[in-house]
Amino acid sequence: MNNEPNADELMWAEGLEVVGKLEASGYQAYLVGGCVRDHLMGRSLHDIDIATSAKPEEVIALFDRTVPTGLKHGTVTVLEGGRSFEVTTFRQESGYSDSRRPDEVEFVLDVREDLARRDFTFNAMAIGIEGVIVDPFGGQDALRAGVVDCVGEASERFNEDALRMLRAIRFGAEFEFVLLPDIWQAIVKHRSNLKHVAIERVSSEWDKMMAGSGPEQACHYLFKSGLLTNVKDPLPETVQHAIEQYRFNELSWEWDKWGMAAADESSFGNILNLPLLFDPDMRWAALLIGMRISEEDSDELCHTLRMSGRRSTRIVGIVGMNEQMVTYEELSFKEGWIRVVLAYGRSIAEDWLEINEVCNGVFVPEAREWLSEILVSTISELNVRGDELVSYIGQAPGPWIAITLQELLEDVALGYVPNDKGSLLVAAKENMGNRKM
Ligand code: ATP
Ligand code: MG
Repeated sequence: MNNEPNADELMWAEGLEVVGKLEASGYQAYLVGGCVRDHLMGRSLHDIDIATSAKPEEVIALFDRTVPTGLKHGTVTVLEGGRSFEVTTFRQESGYSDSRRPDEVEFVLDVREDLARRDFTFNAMAIGIEGVIVDPFGGQDALRAGVVDCVGEASERFNEDALRMLRAIRFGAEFEFVLLPDIWQAIVKHRSNLKHVAIERVSSEWDKMMAGSGPEQACHYLFKSGLLTNVKDPLPETVQHAIEQYRFNELSWEWDKWGMAAADESSFGNILNLPLLFDPDMRWAALLIGMRISEEDSDELCHTLRMSGRRSTRIVGIVGMNEQMVTYEELSFKEGWIRVVLAYGRSIAEDWLEINEVCNGVFVPEAREWLSEILVSTISELNVRGDELVSYIGQAPGPWIAITLQELLEDVALGYVPNDKGSLLVAAKENMGNRKM
């Protein structure tokens, strides 16, 4: 039997060592928040937070390597054994006049007071050096019952900080927990406060939901709550419209009921299959396709959500490719497919095929085969250069070069012209002649 501790157990033990060192110096200290929750749930840990009665300067004095991450809020990052631990002085928060951040932070002496500022009961637990669990608000009960429950009154807590509404939805969807009625009502009541939350935070929460284990449930809550019509920078109108349709029960999660028309007119599958896609970008693309959002509006959405250029190019590319595929007739399918592959690139084409296969069970084995048969997919792979065209054809350089190269690319990819210089030059001249007529 393998008794080696796993990575999470190691991290946990090292966190306890930091706690032990603080305790040995006469301070109180606990592992706290998300890591306690995940530990009790048997989920893997991503980071370890420690709460202590020691003041930031005392923490800095005690450990060899520290980073003053957020001294104003009492947070010092302690570097130990190649890891980092966020060590935060017990604190209380008050006066959330901007619906997002506390106006005042005050250091306190009791861990329970620190736990009281936290959002959900399962996030408001601490574990000390002897393994004692401090759980003043019934976090363990919530975990057992599978419910998301606020510390204190939901309406008050969401009014203090609007981001908590998104966190409630994220945890509910991720853990397959029930959002208690008072939580749901409080979200609906305070949804317009979402406009006080920086778009980056909204985006990062939504993205975490898309990457998590319950993206379809998360979107259900997000859409039904009306939260997303209250984003600081409004989402594109078509996106809002699709959300509203879903919200008012005109549509369900069935993709075909979104009015989706796939290349073969069959249903585009079911959004409940989103978790079957491994990659969050693919999930975003599948969601947008399911919602019938255009390439252009998908681009706008990615922009509004401040997605990186790399990610939006991929997501928008898949959506755009899908839009193109829908327009091709069965007869010219191969030719259409190859042209679309040239326009969007091989890797987008592979993504699109995967979405079809995974979400819709629509297998197009020929398309995969054709993809592997395409000899060239970019102009740089052609065995002719623009300057060679200029001297062979004897025409001054101009926009015609790019047009001709693109035509040659299609000719070669479709198998009409071999990819050797002689044939390419002859074909180029012919194409130009045809164009003049
Ligand atoms: P995850 O790391 O999976 O996002 P987490 O619960 O660890 O979940 P963090 O943002 O890392 O979330 O926050 C750590 C802890 O800080 C939380 O467990 C919670 O106790 C507290 N917390 C975080 N954000 C808020 C908030 N907006 N309001 C109140 N407490 C919060
Ligand atoms: Mg965390």
